[in-house]
Amino acid sequence: MSVPSALPTFRNGKPVLVIGGGIAGLTTALEAAEVGCQVILAEKSPALGGRVARMHQYFPKLCPPTCGLEINLRRLRENPRITVLTLAEAEEIRGVPGNYEVTLRLSPRFVSETCTLCGDCAQACAAEKPDEFNYGLSKTKAAYLPSGNAYPARYVIDRAACPEGCKACQEACAYGSIDLSQKVERKTIQVAAVVAATGWAPYDATKIDYLGFGKYPNVVTNVILERLAALDGPTAGRILRPSDGKEPQTVAFVQCAGSRDDNHLPYCSAVCCAASIKQATYIRKLYTQAQITIFYIDVRTLGRLEDFYASVAADPKIAFVKGKVGAVEQDPGNHDLLVTAEDILSGKKKTQRFDLVVLATGIVPQTDGLPAGFALDEFKFLSVPEGRAGLYSAGCVHRPEEVSAAVQDATGAALKALQCVSRSSQHG
Ligand SMILES: Cc1cc2nc3c(=O)[nH]c(=O)nc-3n(C[C@H](O)[C@H](O)[C@H](O)COP(=O)(O)OP(=O)(O)OC[C@H]3O[C@@H](n4cnc5c(N)ncnc54)[C@H](O)[C@@H]3O)c2cc1C
Repeated sequence: MSVPSALPTFRNGKPVLVIGGGIAGLTTALEAAEVGCQVILAEKSPALGGRVARMHQYFPKLCPPTCGLEINLRRLRENPRITVLTLAEAEEIRGVPGNYEVTLRLSPRFVSETCTLCGDCAQACAAEKPDEFNYGLSKTKAAYLPSGNAYPARYVIDRAACPEGCKACQEACAYGSIDLSQKVERKTIQVAAVVAATGWAPYDATKIDYLGFGKYPNVVTNVILERLAALDGPTAGRILRPSDGKEPQTVAFVQCAGSRDDNHLPYCSAVCCAASIKQATYIRKLYTQAQITIFYIDVRTLGRLEDFYASVAADPKIAFVKGKVGAVEQDPGNHDLLVTAEDILSGKKKTQRFDLVVLATGIVPQTDGLPAGFALDEFKFLSVPEGRAGLYSAGCVHRPEEVSAAVQDATGAALKALQCVSRSSQHG
């Protein structure tokens, strides 16, 4: 086998397309661009950051995710080789590894780069819609900033939420930054490789009928709890019972809410145990007398997360009960919740009363919006291509994983994509 005499430069090769601008997509784009490759990063929402941007803290260090995202966004801003397209999706991929033609669908933002973030458009806007960033817990105007730390830092108009013919935001903008006549555009690009990093969505907890989500206000999910704990969330970081705004003093976490269940998600979602353990610390920090019970099948915290689990389990106010929850019911008088589970270690079935129940819902891969060509496994996660392929995946769209694993995955995907760029530039 001949060994190249010098490291290849990727400057003259075709670009790599990365689909999805969460932590995995951002990492893939940065790693590829920092060795000289051109990268197009296509994110379907109006801002980068993915699910991580909505977290309150990261396990195991309990630091705010904005720190890590900030570092990556600084690297991104400093790198002219990355073209960021928001409100962008890949519709079709044609061609072969090293030589793909991709059609991108670009939805209008209606707000140009000259936006100064003054907020006059939102002020003038009378239409409201559920705030997706807060999982619908609060509302935004139809003219809105996706989040306080949004990148790009620019307003966006959701035309689907606007009343017919309304131009109030456009008229209010003193800088002429709003153009409501923009239309969907399509753009065709030539790339050597494509990395899908489209991430995950939480499992729809209303499908797990016996756990009461959607029926009882004080049953929330783990992603909702992240927003309730977040200082920039709808309750400014105070975790309160949705029914009456009371500070919860007894909280149950229901593990494997949907996961490892043939009727819902047959696989383990890998991060939910560590996520609930982390969220128990949020509550204990806010309410020093709060009593927490975590109902689990097995606690799956591998490697360094085991120490995190051990440190939290040492808290006498956090109980771990091995047993699957069979029912969550509501006391109609006061909206308390009655949780029934068999405690496997004592062999006793018990019903306990709680102020708040948090369902540790699992991770569902976001593969529906991807163009044809990617290989899917039985659960619709993207599978690893065999041999010399040019369509790769990174992060949770590939398997449920924590951020550090998603970053490693993304670095590997960048290397695979770079090999594709290198081969295609060697062969013309
Ligand atoms: C409750 C909970 C708490 C967690 N807490 C932690 C924690 O404390 N520490 C930790 O390490 N991990 C944690 N995790 C795991 C962490 O959320 C994931 O590791 C991380 O989000 C993976 O990032 P990603 O980029 O793969 O996916 P995502 O964050 O989902 O990003 C995917 C991006 O792709 C975009 N996208 C989707 N479809 C398309 C499309 N068709 N075209 C273009 N763009 C698209 C999305 O809009 C999004 O921006 C937690 C998970 C849960 C469920």
